[in-house]
Amino acid sequence: MRSPKDMGIIQIDITNACPHTCSNCTRFCGHHRKPFFMDFNTFKQAVDSLQDFPNMVGIIGGEPTLHPEFEKFVNYLRDSRIGANKRYKIFREPVKDMLKYIFTCLQCSNGKLGLWSSLNEGYYKHFEVINDSFPTQFLNDHDNTCLHQALLMPRKELGIPDDEWIKKRDACWVQNTWSATITPKGAFFCEVAGALDMLFDGPGGWKIEPNWWKRDVKDFWDQLPWCELCSGCLDVPQRISNDERDDMTPEIFETLKRMGSPKIKRGKYVVHDPKTFDKSRYHTFTGNNDYMAAAGNIRTSQRNRNYYPKDFVQAPFAVVRSIPKDKSVKDWVIVTDDNARAQEIYSVLKDMIINPGCLFVTEGALVFNVRAHSLREFFDAAKELPEDFWNCYPSDKITEINI
Ligand code: SF4
Ligand code: SF4
Repeated sequence: MRSPKDMGIIQIDITNACPHTCSNCTRFCGHHRKPFFMDFNTFKQAVDSLQDFPNMVGIIGGEPTLHPEFEKFVNYLRDSRIGANKRYKIFREPVKDMLKYIFTCLQCSNGKLGLWSSLNEGYYKHFEVINDSFPTQFLNDHDNTCLHQALLMPRKELGIPDDEWIKKRDACWVQNTWSATITPKGAFFCEVAGALDMLFDGPGGWKIEPNWWKRDVKDFWDQLPWCELCSGCLDVPQRISNDERDDMTPEIFETLKRMGSPKIKRGKYVVHDPKTFDKSRYHTFTGNNDYMAAAGNIRTSQRNRNYYPKDFVQAPFAVVRSIPKDKSVKDWVIVTDDNARAQEIYSVLKDMIINPGCLFVTEGALVFNVRAHSLREFFDAAKELPEDFWNCYPSDKITEINI
């Protein structure tokens, strides 16, 4: 075990809502009857409590982009940690290959801000603020064969004696390579412990106050009982995430059933009988990359269209100023008087990943998105765009492209 002060990342769990219900999810998505959404005051306290934490603060879920106040949260986090009005300059060019971009541009290991997302519709909705704010993005759409280790097979049910248990618990790969976390119920020494407290309606974590994360391992005693319910450190099965079933022991199964877990009702579980369970068949993960390595680190593919442009319309230069009044325009606008040119631009950009916050300039045309923050005041008020509307964009969000 290690103190949160020695961790590279501390997480803030802002919601456990998620479009997926992966097998053996560390947040037990699918078992809650109702998701939580952290309120802004708690989030602010969480960020403020980490003011002096020198490493990365992450926003995680569930799927954090589903939080209704996601943008407000991100703005507060970014302004607090890197300074008001500072922005990262990510995704300023159209990108063809998301997977390559993830590995070359989105994994800045010394970033002070991190986002964990499964690349669903929320990522596209918040594309601009995400790429202004997070130099480190851990993206995994889970449409691949990554493995998740069973978490709901407690050692007592498996008959693991105290001496063996203490050694395994203290060597837990999750606590030693992942993160402490803050949930709406307090701060926790381990992110899975925080999720267990949420699932089983526990007493909550430590008060979210400055320096909570400086606690030493000897101060974890009041939270270690969560390890007794958890198999994160044990030699238990690992399962492909999109199989969606959770591995568990009989007592945990009965508890979840009593609680009315939707995932149990859907039959998405595998109960292992401790009498016949052969732990020699399994080996716990040892590091934070084991689960992705099993899938060849394929975090997304072109099959996932969530982050591609949704729609394009063509607008001649004479009508572009009135676009904010046209509620039917929801995504990209190609401004040109030339239909053939618009078609040519569309045929290239429809298969590129392009930042809705950017204005793209190409021969005979401009391409912009009605959701760009630079134009927000006009669209919010259904007010005409200025004649020189391109001057509303900061220079780093105007990109020349050759099509
Ligand atoms: S995408 Fe992540 S948070 Fe959502 S169910 Fe899967 S593992 Fe859990
Ligand atoms: S056993 Fe579970 S709760 Fe305990 S440190 Fe490991 S992952 Fe966290």
